[in-house]
Amino acid sequence: MAQLGEFRVVVVGSGLAGLTCARRLAESGQRVTVVTASRRGRDGATHRVHGLAPWILLSAPWVRGDSPRRFLDDLRQRSGGLARPGLDEIFAEQAHPAARTLVEELDLQALDEGPVLLPGDEMPRGRRFLPRQHRPLLEPLVRHCEGLGVVFREREVVVGLLMSRDRASGVVTLRRGQGDRAVLPADAVVLACGGAGAIFPCSTSPRWCCGSGLALAEVSGTRLHHPHLTQALPVTATPPLFFPTSAALVNGRLRVGGIVQERAASLPEATAMVAEALRRGVTVELLPPAVENGSVPPRVKASPALRRPGALPLRLALHHSVGGVAIDAWGRTSTPGLYACGEAAGGVQGGRRTMGTGLLEAFIFGQRAAAAVARDVARRAPALATISEVLVAEPADPARLAGVLDRLLDPLTEIRPVEEVGHALAELEAWPRGTGAAGDEGAQVALRLAAARVMLRAAAAAGGETA
Ligand SMILES: Cc1cc2nc3c(=O)[nH]c(=O)nc-3n(C[C@H](O)[C@H](O)[C@H](O)COP(=O)(O)OP(=O)(O)OC[C@H]3O[C@@H](n4cnc5c(N)ncnc54)[C@H](O)[C@@H]3O)c2cc1C
Repeated sequence: MAQLGEFRVVVVGSGLAGLTCARRLAESGQRVTVVTASRRGRDGATHRVHGLAPWILLSAPWVRGDSPRRFLDDLRQRSGGLARPGLDEIFAEQAHPAARTLVEELDLQALDEGPVLLPGDEMPRGRRFLPRQHRPLLEPLVRHCEGLGVVFREREVVVGLLMSRDRASGVVTLRRGQGDRAVLPADAVVLACGGAGAIFPCSTSPRWCCGSGLALAEVSGTRLHHPHLTQALPVTATPPLFFPTSAALVNGRLRVGGIVQERAASLPEATAMVAEALRRGVTVELLPPAVENGSVPPRVKASPALRRPGALPLRLALHHSVGGVAIDAWGRTSTPGLYACGEAAGGVQGGRRTMGTGLLEAFIFGQRAAAAVARDVARRAPALATISEVLVAEPADPARLAGVLDRLLDPLTEIRPVEEVGHALAELEAWPRGTGAAGDEGAQVALRLAAARVMLRAAAAAGGETA
């Protein structure tokens, strides 16, 4: 049996899942390289949480009378049987201790005394936090990884895998700006590359969260779990895109289908009401607040949405990938040597995702993938000398394709009627391959195209059901 410390692990992505996994691997003595599309800890959905959302929500059983069992029952009721066996159980069991550890490790400060009741829940499970110091959310974890000797390769995009027969044995990257390729052999590869939100033109996810997990799984023949399952949330319809804050949604006035609504009791309640109306195709607008005693109430002055004159239309943005690369309870995929965790992985939740669970999923399964890698590589025979590359195909004319993807996918953000899915898929399947090195933009569009095809095929197979 080989000794720990001699193995090389490549982690793709530096969001919460990737950094958690990298940290645990480095602590167990592995040589870890994190490849990340832009800046370490700042280029994923995790970094956006604090930037775009009003707070960091962590859903777990917190109060007396609640329990992992009750939490699991609620998760299952929402998932409609679409979670992978065992994953939801692990999540429910570990959510509370994971939340406590995460709060400590990221130095988060609670906004309320206790958890708040989220729409659809019977127990208050949503705890709201902000970083104690005004610093990037993942900074403590980045520092920890650096201290443990984790190597970061920034502005580098994984565009393919190295395969040693049926086993993943490294990655092929494109170095942004330089436009050249690099090959990084490894004993294990962890896909922590986030969700597929940014294949859609209107998304809360940053641009590199464009379905790399789906694209890389496809080229390596790795199994997927319902990749078309996604979650959409309301945002402002006109740029700059942002979540209306609680000040805007709760203290402003909402006009739904032309009718001004009663004030909602809370942000989750208002969000649920808006999302439901938009899903039904009903117009939703945010109106400036009513003037009270001749002036605008001070609590709404801070909201940019409410300072704008006139009605502000809202729309749905692709927010979260619920499906993804199929994993077992330890983040192993169907390809030996290839692991997945966080939003890149699918199956922890099914049809409907519970709010405030994305970070905990990334944290719990990032740690489990690290534990599995450390165990598996120590037992495995050395990789074969014969290595082949499987690459995400480069499309012709990436600049034009980006526009085509926007046009075809925008109407499919939330509702995916089977006929429209079929038309979009036919156009994308027929897109010709490129011939030369396409650079940064080309890599992003290539990943986006591959992921879009995977998602649309799954949506078509599922009968174009609502996401
Ligand atoms: C605005 C917003 C608010 C949210 N609020 C909450 C909340 O309050 N509570 C909660 O629990 N969840 C929330 N979520 C969801 C949660 O943030 C995500 O589920 C979670 O952060 C995913 O973490 P991750 O590490 O899997 O992926 P990410 O943080 O998205 O990281 C993905 C990483 O992969 C890199 N990458 C992608 N493709 C490649 C490639 N080919 N090569 C190299 N690198 C690549 C990216 O650059 C990035 O570093 C929110 C999400 C958003 C967008």
